[in-house]
Amino acid sequence: MSLQHIAVIGAGTMGNGIAHVFAQSGFNVKLIDVNAAQLEKALQTISKNLDRQVAKATITEAQKAATLANIITVTDLAAGVQPAQLVIEAATENVDLKLKIFRQLDETAPAGAILATNTSSISITKIAAATKRPAQVIGMHFMNPVPVMKLVEIINGYATDKEVTEKIVSLSQQLGKVPCVVNDYPGFIANRILMPMINEAIYSLYEGVAGVEAIDTVMKLGMAHPMGPLQLADFIGLDVCYSILNVLYEGFGNPKYAPCPLLTNMVTAGYLGAKSGEGFYKYTAGNKDLIVSDRFK
Ligand code: NAD
Repeated sequence: MSLQHIAVIGAGTMGNGIAHVFAQSGFNVKLIDVNAAQLEKALQTISKNLDRQVAKATITEAQKAATLANIITVTDLAAGVQPAQLVIEAATENVDLKLKIFRQLDETAPAGAILATNTSSISITKIAAATKRPAQVIGMHFMNPVPVMKLVEIINGYATDKEVTEKIVSLSQQLGKVPCVVNDYPGFIANRILMPMINEAIYSLYEGVAGVEAIDTVMKLGMAHPMGPLQLADFIGLDVCYSILNVLYEGFGNPKYAPCPLLTNMVTAGYLGAKSGEGFYKYTAGNKDLIVSDRFK
């Protein structure tokens, strides 16, 4: 039976993007969140992002309407996962919450459904072990912003069935994405390589090797990165970087992954990057210029 019915759990930054791309490819999507206001906001975001695609003539008004018509929002998980053939969990990055959701999914999702998680760093094997169907659990790690970014990092848990991986690979291609299959070790591939680079950039600043602008410019112009590592850290959220580095640190037991003390201080003080208004740069509404935080001038 071909996959048609998808449930997405969590309607935040990633959940709304995942719902968007599936609905635009003609799938029936149930978008589930415990917070009704968040579901309303997600629909508005999807509609705004579709408007951008219409303005660029990459889709028509009729395609926008068809995409929105493919999404139903639900606050009750048990109702939302019927009749899903694939559930993608994109709720808050918290291990206890994810284990709880997967226990619930095991009891409520249709028996044959594949259970995927969009986690950035939590072990797929651990999440799978919370269910009685670990062979049907897999990581489907989309990148932010989902409608724009091509990559889907597909993570095999220790017990993931080969057929499940093949289905998720082919489904990702159907969405117009490029899937890369990796195994389940801390940070997978994306964050295992990205986070140490960001941490090293923060160390370079902390040790006074160079300033914020110089570090980011070297990596942008020297390595052709679209964004410098400090700007990228601000965009991802410094708290998120901090928690992924700790997953690497604890998972490998290797001090090379320990978060830089400057990052620890910034997170403790609430300087979380773009979302809090200040990180390595400062962010004010309506201002698109990059302005280095006064603390680093
Ligand atoms: P977010 O905070 O924007 O959204 C999380 C949503 O989950 C919220 O709307 C919240 O109400 C909802 N939620 C919490 N508990 C729930 C429950 N029990 N049932 C249903 N919904 C629930 O988070 P996000 O940035 O979208 O991240 C979601 C997941 O995607 C995380 O695992 C994160 O690591 C991963 N991820 C994030 C990014 C990123 O750049 N933001 C990139 C890749 C992967």
